[in-house]
Amino acid sequence: MKYRARSFAALSLALMLSACGSSQPETLSILAMDTAMTFSVYGDDADTVLSDASLEVRRLDALLSRTNPESAVTHLNAGDQIQVGEEVCGLIAAAQEYSAATGGAFDITLAPVSTAWGFTTDSYQVPSQEELDALLAHVGMEHIHLTEDTATLDPGTQIDLGAIAKGYASDQLGALFQRSGVERGWVSLGGNVLAWGSRPDGDPWEVGIQDPAHPDESSALVCSLFLQDAFAVTSGSYQRYFEQDGKRYHHILDPKTGAPAESGLVSVTVVADYAPGNGTMCDALSTALFVMGEEDALSFWRSGTYDFELVLVTEDGRVLVTEGLADRYAPAEGSTYVFETVS
Ligand code: ADP
Ligand code: MG
Repeated sequence: MKYRARSFAALSLALMLSACGSSQPETLSILAMDTAMTFSVYGDDADTVLSDASLEVRRLDALLSRTNPESAVTHLNAGDQIQVGEEVCGLIAAAQEYSAATGGAFDITLAPVSTAWGFTTDSYQVPSQEELDALLAHVGMEHIHLTEDTATLDPGTQIDLGAIAKGYASDQLGALFQRSGVERGWVSLGGNVLAWGSRPDGDPWEVGIQDPAHPDESSALVCSLFLQDAFAVTSGSYQRYFEQDGKRYHHILDPKTGAPAESGLVSVTVVADYAPGNGTMCDALSTALFVMGEEDALSFWRSGTYDFELVLVTEDGRVLVTEGLADRYAPAEGSTYVFETVS
């Protein structure tokens, strides 16, 4: 069996830092939320902001992780009578909203299904359809009962906030940057990027979208995006997967089948302007639109339900870029992908 664990995976969004003028940033890299994270901040208070950023991400990891035995989510999943508090309830409420908006493609109650595939333990296996069907009986947002500060789950139901927690963390870091008066910087939380302000020379930050065909080469890109005060989040089937009997099984599951989504997409990048909550939105939508596939993802974008732009990379080598990004991207040099602007 061949597999890739997240700890080996290159960031799906590699931040490319070119010569940045005179001022130098302070940069900190940590491992949290099961991924590599980097924060980069310019300005006099950069050291303090970086240590606050690291504390905030570790606080969220301890609250939201479903593998940490002490986290609020672990207690909730165990059926313990604890008050998870307003912050966790707010995030679950956001997950409910994105689930409803995407026709159920986004579903945090897939946790037991993800466990059955071994994605939480790294002991991968292909579950039988009977096993999946039995678990799917407990999947669905109707199994979560929420008040402002308490949550309860129906017996057999468990939640996994892995598809939304890093996005929420990026929102929290944006709020921290704002409070601290940070003028420029960026954060990269394993595929979730916040580009804050501009580069010191006034140009936008260059954010690379990883080439799904070469996930181990951080310099292998599909294209670059040029972003300022924006979130960019990528979900891809190349980030975490295992292979058995010549077939590849990745970690983004289709709630309809309980199996890895086979939507014809290999990666989905969602981009939105900086605004509170948009980091969470980009993270939820990148996962949901991956499940929905090209046609439904583009209809959803056209519906205007949320304000965001997309870069879709398809299995057959096309890159679809929505028109709001048309003058904010450049194909990687020598790219063999076929680029199309979508309106
Ligand atoms: P990553 O966390 O690898 O950057 P995502 O944001 O797309 O990527 O989240 C994928 C994780 O979310 C999976 O590892 C699993 O825990 C969970 N998950 C899988 N499928 C779904 C889904 N359809 N809806 C919500 N969460 C999901
Ligand atoms: Mg996500």
